[in-house]
Amino acid sequence: DFPFIYVITPTHKRPTQKADLTRMGNTLRQVPNLHWIVVEDAGVRSPLVAKLLLNSGIPHTHLNILKPDYCKSGCVARGSEQRNLGLDWLRQHRGPLDSGVVYFGDDDNTYDLELFEEMRSTKWVSVWPVGLIAGRWYERPVVHNGKVVGWFTGFPGRRFGTDMAGFAVNLNLILANPNARFVLQGAKSGMQENNFLNKLTKLEDLEPKANNCTKVLVWHTRTEKAPLNKHVKDNVDIEV
Ligand code: UDP
Ligand code: MN
Repeated sequence: DFPFIYVITPTHKRPTQKADLTRMGNTLRQVPNLHWIVVEDAGVRSPLVAKLLLNSGIPHTHLNILKPDYCKSGCVARGSEQRNLGLDWLRQHRGPLDSGVVYFGDDDNTYDLELFEEMRSTKWVSVWPVGLIAGRWYERPVVHNGKVVGWFTGFPGRRFGTDMAGFAVNLNLILANPNARFVLQGAKSGMQENNFLNKLTKLEDLEPKANNCTKVLVWHTRTEKAPLNKHVKDNVDIEV
């Protein structure tokens, strides 16, 4: 049994988008049995992302949904409308006979290939450390005798003190819980992951991966905004 990994990636247009997606695609194309669900935060699917996905050779699904109006001026739930659409797609196109694991992978993070083999065996909900986040080298689940008992985190007060990049969910658990969606309206900053996981699992049922959560296999890197000079008009549109 070699379950599929479904990576749901929200993405939005900015000068570094193609570079970020190229880097992520170069990682994901090396992972067997992986299906990349890329959801653009846009009114239409862009040729840039469509071409990039085709050229990557990765089995993929290309979707789009614009962020809601109340998110236009900065939203605490960046990418979550898009993640929900990815979940909808899975619920419509996969069934209880499909074995798989669902992971939310943002387009600007850095992924060790080992991460995917760790998450592939997720029976329920698995967790692991995330590097370079919350002003720390890492945040991580604290594990005692093979069980998650708490979190080393820069943002305490959450039952599940993890970032989006720090967990995966068995596909069948997603399919069996149609209420497992991200809540956008009224959502508090930093509570997205916690609220989502609350609907799916108890702390004591979490499966610690990455050597009892002692290895960092994903980093919450953020790409610097490209310092484009708006007075320069490039003479050919090649980055489209
Ligand atoms: N994102 C999006 N629309 C936005 C802002 C972000 O779809 O308006 C995507 C982005 O491309 C990324 C994810 O949502 O895949 C998380 O956003 P970001 O990386 O900016 O968040 P942070 O690094 O601050 O957690
Ligand atoms: Mn990011």
